[in-house]
Amino acid sequence: MDYEAVIGLETHVQLKTKSKMWCGCANDFGAPPNTNVCPVCLGLPGVLPVANEEALRLTALAGYLLNCKVSPRAKFDRKNYFYPDMPKNYQITQYDQPSALAGCVEFEFDSRPARVRLTRVHLEEDVGKNFHFDRHSGVDFNRAGVPLMEIVSEPDLTGADMAYEYLNALKEILVYGGVSDCDMEKGMVRCDVNVSVRPKGQTELGAKIEIKNMNSFSGARKALEYEIPRQISVLSQGGKLVQSTRRWDDAAGLTEEMRTKEFAHDYRYFPEPDLMPFEPTQAWLAEVRERVVELPLARKRRFMRDYQLPEADAQTFVRDAALGNYFQSFAAQAKNPKAAANWVINNLRGKLAETGTPLAQIKFAPAAILELVELVESGKLSHRIAQEVFAQTFATGQSPASIVESKGLAQVSDAGALESFCDQAIAAHPGPAADFKAGKTAALNFLKGQVMKLSKGKANPALVGEILQRKLS
Ligand SMILES: [Zn+2]
Repeated sequence: MDYEAVIGLETHVQLKTKSKMWCGCANDFGAPPNTNVCPVCLGLPGVLPVANEEALRLTALAGYLLNCKVSPRAKFDRKNYFYPDMPKNYQITQYDQPSALAGCVEFEFDSRPARVRLTRVHLEEDVGKNFHFDRHSGVDFNRAGVPLMEIVSEPDLTGADMAYEYLNALKEILVYGGVSDCDMEKGMVRCDVNVSVRPKGQTELGAKIEIKNMNSFSGARKALEYEIPRQISVLSQGGKLVQSTRRWDDAAGLTEEMRTKEFAHDYRYFPEPDLMPFEPTQAWLAEVRERVVELPLARKRRFMRDYQLPEADAQTFVRDAALGNYFQSFAAQAKNPKAAANWVINNLRGKLAETGTPLAQIKFAPAAILELVELVESGKLSHRIAQEVFAQTFATGQSPASIVESKGLAQVSDAGALESFCDQAIAAHPGPAADFKAGKTAALNFLKGQVMKLSKGKANPALVGEILQRKLS
């Protein structure tokens, strides 16, 4: 029997705010333990939370970027449980009235458009972090109360690779929109994976198994690559799966059971009495909508369409948005945008990295790149010498044309000069010349090389080829 996997993801993303969700403590990663704390985020008795408006804006913005319906009324609720990293003994979250509903993420998977529906986007707070040492444990509350957004997908994903691509697309959208830096190293994105399998064609879902707290996308992919075959193997051997929560052990490369449904938490949600429901005005929402940016996939398609770039180049300009913006600033004037993109991607990017120069501090005007393309295409400059000219333009800001002029680098296309170089090469190497005449076409490359040497690399190679062939036939 054939089985298929049904996967849904709950992705937690820390929002890019200066301060925490309910207090003025800094939201910055890497501070010494328990230094970004106050009575509010330590959950001391009697304190009152005040919602961070920027976090509400970023959540609404994420809603728009993810094609959701942004709710006219969002409510906060208490989710009650006891855990050492949760000083209040409850987490403030949104239960039945989240900030945004019913969206989707569009991305490319297997070179085809894919779409995953979203159930909801809600706003909550992060918890502290437990550390376990040899003989004792510690809790760092710096993270407690950091604004955390949860994005819940519908079970539209069908495999480990698709889940991986979805997570990357989601991350790219949120980074583009300035909603989150999504820095995995700093734990800014984590996800819970819900996965079940069922016989192909069956509409009823199998027992839902949740893998908690994945802190990397590649980890989520590996966990699914392990878990899907595991579930299929249980079912195909006549076994039964029950709804349960599992943990991914990255070192061992397997998932293990943490608890089954009968031990599931009852969180006793109830409306947060210290916070009013949030009802944004039309003006407030309009202001948020002004922050909506072009989505990465749309940008990639636009670069491919408007500048006839191959997918890989367009993707480079999506991943490196600043470089893409730079290219975009002059691409419309390029007769051959693809050639201009090559200079930006292959040469400029390398020089910037090599010299540690920020894009904003480039010494030359973007028109220099168009000039270089023109010099190469018109045959005035060989591609090899053009690289040297570019290096000099980059270093000095001098225009390519003036460098070519002052250094006499222009390619020799003058037939008289080339004829004489060709004659010299043939005279000096009668062997290869005879070989070519006898039908060994490869000998022509050797002679071409000699002419290039004689001209110090400045001969127009296409013309040289023509002249040599004429002389030898
Ligand atoms: Zn605080």
